[in-house]
Formats: sequence, C-alpha cells, structure tokens
Amino acid sequence: MLCITVEKNHKLKVSNCPVPEINNDEVLLKLDVCGVCGSDLVKIKNNLVPEGTVLGHEIVGTIVEVGNQIKKWSPSQKVVVAHHVPCLNCYFCRSGNFSMCRQFKETNISPGGFSEYIKVSRAHLEHTTFLIPRGTVPDEEIALTEPLACCLRAVTRAQITPSNTVLICGLGSIGIMIGKLCIEKGAQTYGIDLLEERIQLGKDMTAIHDGYLANSSEVKSWILNKTEGRGVDVVFLASGSDKSISTAIDFVRSGGKIIIFSSISKEEGFYNNEIYYRELTVIGSYSPSPLALKEAYQMIITGKIKLGSIITDVVPLKELPKQIDKCFKNKSLKMIVKV
Ligand SMILES: [Zn+2]
Ligand SMILES: [Zn+2]
Repeated sequence: MLCITVEKNHKLKVSNCPVPEINNDEVLLKLDVCGVCGSDLVKIKNNLVPEGTVLGHEIVGTIVEVGNQIKKWSPSQKVVVAHHVPCLNCYFCRSGNFSMCRQFKETNISPGGFSEYIKVSRAHLEHTTFLIPRGTVPDEEIALTEPLACCLRAVTRAQITPSNTVLICGLGSIGIMIGKLCIEKGAQTYGIDLLEERIQLGKDMTAIHDGYLANSSEVKSWILNKTEGRGVDVVFLASGSDKSISTAIDFVRSGGKIIIFSSISKEEGFYNNEIYYRELTVIGSYSPSPLALKEAYQMIITGKIKLGSIITDVVPLKELPKQIDKCFKNKSLKMIVKV
C-alpha cells in the first residue's frame, strides 16, 4: 500500500509498505482523509522521529475489516480516530493531566495517518473513535476533530469567561480555532499575525473581533488602547515564533494568564521576575482530554462550529512530499491529504 515516510534532510517520501494485519481485537481502516498537523511539521523539521516513520494523526477513515472480538463496529462505518489513548486510571489521568499518562504517550495508530490503511486498537475504538453519520459535514472538516479538541482543552484550562479580553498570537488554523472558542465563551478576542490575510480570515470566520499585524510598531499601543492601558487578561501563544514569549509578557495585563500552545525552536524560558512581580500565571496545554475529543466531534458534526474556511489545501496522499513545502513556507493554512 501507499504510505508517506519521513526521510533524512527534513523530507517526506512516497513509500510502499505492507497493509497492516489486524488482531482479533483490532479493526482495519481505509483512509479517507488526514490533516497535516503543526506537530508533524515540527517533527520533520527538527528530526524528532526515526527515518521511515509514518506521521499523520487527524484521521477520518472507513472500516474495512473487523477482528472477531470487536462487536460494536462493522465494515463500511466511517469514523474519526485520535491517536493517543489515556488509561483514565493512573495518577495523571485522575488529576486531569491525561496527556502526561504513560499509556497516552505509548499508544498510537499504526502505521500513521499518511497511509492508505491503518490499524486501530480496541483501546482506541473504546475511547478515541467516533462514528460519523452519513452526509453530515465533509470528511475534511471532521478531520479537524483532534486539533479542535486540543484547542478546547486549552480554552478550558484558561478558564475563559465573558468578562475576559483575549489576545491570540498567531492566526494559523490553531489560532483561529482558539479564537472561535473564546468568542463562543463571550470573551472580547483579538489576534495578531504576520500575514494580513490571516487577520482578515480571522475576522471573516468570527475568530477575532479585531486584529493587527504582529510586526507593526503600533501593535502594542493598539492592544493597550483596547484594554484601558492594562493589556489583555489572557494571551494564547499559537505561533512557533521565538519572539512570542516577549510578546506575551508585553501584552498580558499584570495578574493575567499566558497559555502556551506551541513549541518554539529554541529552548527558551519565561522571565522569573515578570512572573513574580506581576503575578502572572503561565499554563501549558498541548493535547486533548477524551472529553474534549467528544465535545469537539459533536461541535463539528452538528455544525455548531464551522471550520471549512480554514482548509486551504486538499492534496492527494501521494503528493504530500511535494506539497508539504507549502506548509513550511506558511503558504497553507491547513492542508488535508485525501486518498
Ligand atoms: Zn494534531
Ligand atoms: Zn493514565
């Protein structure tokens, strides 16, 4: 079968690998679509996975084979699947830190979403697989379930209320989803980005109430004007830029919160004295809880949240190695591969 593997030199390659054989407690999916995630890009760019790895985890597929111990699922059902499954039982799970759970880190779909066929385990079927009713929303949008769930969790961890002012740094697909969720919570929501068209899209999609160019010399006075000189209550960092730390510190009000939602290329820290003297709260959020996954799935299939305009590129699976450059060059807001 066709699959796309990670090669040396930060490249992807079209490969041929065997169709996975399933055990009695597994199912085989035929891929319909899979989203290209920012984390896939980071892994390729920074050589974080071994050569030959198949990435991709924002998966919509159709069941083609079912192990004989699996009763609830049957061939031709279309599903959306997330890749990591927490145990729901360990200290971290009981504390709500599902993504710190050992099982969460160890579980994955095989070989990966950039592949014609994918094997899904019983644990995935029980906790991170959702049936897609026919004719609801396009598959490409349903593939955004996992990233939307990540955003939902971040907004939940930030405890956004209607009285909050929010600034989103980076209006990529993640920034736009976070913005929509903050507006849904009633918060006054602003966004900054280096690209004018992303600010416009953020406004058009009701993901921000207003936005500004991140590199403008007036951006700080703009945000201070919006907040009676204080700065915003909550900053979400949704860009991989090294400058985002100082932006967050500059634009958050004293006593406010900074939510870190992206890795940056350097190992850089926040400023101790800023956090101490200004009583800032810094929160990391990087993966969804099972509850957030379910909520995201429901929001998408019921049409409560409409994310179609985020998807700028739908490309055939075999063309991903050529097309992925567009993502690296910030020319694609959200790329989805299709078989
Ligand atoms: Zn993802
Ligand atoms: Zn656990």
